[in-house]
Amino acid sequence: MIDVRDLVVSYGTATALDRVTLTVRRGEMVALLGPNGAGKSTLANTLAGLVQPASGTVEIGGRLALIPEGRQLFPDLSVADNLALGGWRSGERDPSYVYDLLPRLAGLAGRRAGVLSGGEQQMVAFGRAMMSRPSVLVVDELSLGLAPNVTADLAGHLAELNREQGLTVLLIEQNARLAFELCGRAYVLESSRVVAEGECAELAGDP
Ligand code: ADP
Ligand code: ADP
Repeated sequence: MIDVRDLVVSYGTATALDRVTLTVRRGEMVALLGPNGAGKSTLANTLAGLVQPASGTVEIGGRLALIPEGRQLFPDLSVADNLALGGWRSGERDPSYVYDLLPRLAGLAGRRAGVLSGGEQQMVAFGRAMMSRPSVLVVDELSLGLAPNVTADLAGHLAELNREQGLTVLLIEQNARLAFELCGRAYVLESSRVVAEGECAELAGDP
């Protein structure tokens, strides 16, 4: 579903990704872990087509949506309008589909996105990504700045979409424990390179 081979991405003379190879199979939830500056967001943005690789290949076997780092909502627009913008490419304007997936959004529809709590904003970003009815979702830091119970609620929705609709997920996370709970396999990125990959059960057991 996601097939990345020997990917190299540079910003000027700085290498952000150095021959990164990674695959996510259809229906899988795979974690991408690593410290700040490792290149995780660069990989997410390259998958989403926002960053051009210098070399290597990226193949995506379906429609991909991104929940970007920091949510990136339009703060002065309503929740409903933020959601509608997520459907612009597929022509979907009616958010009722995502209200079925994330019922809490229905009650927030008329609110200005900028006044919502962090957890609510992340739910809007989640719903906006789902507006295009993607088969692959890349989540750049689900838990960033959120309380554990808020994160758990969002994670529950993600797991449900994976289980019930077969949504394929690449989950970028600082919180390794959360990633290991949700995902079967993980990659660890450090200084632009994949330094470890494997089953979460094995990686979690490593000292
Ligand atoms: P992570 O998501 O793992 O924190 P990033 O992909 O954001 O890592 O960053 C990887 C490296 O690329 C860092 O050294 C960062 O400073 C640099 N970088 C990221 N975005 C840009 C950019 N737009 N221009 C220049 N350098 C960037
Ligand atoms: P809610 O639980 O209603 O979604 P928030 O997401 O605003 O509320 O807050 C959850 C927790 O995350 C709180 O402890 C809050 O202080 C913290 N928090 C919220 N936003 C940030 C942020 N940008 N950076 C760091 N911590 C944050």
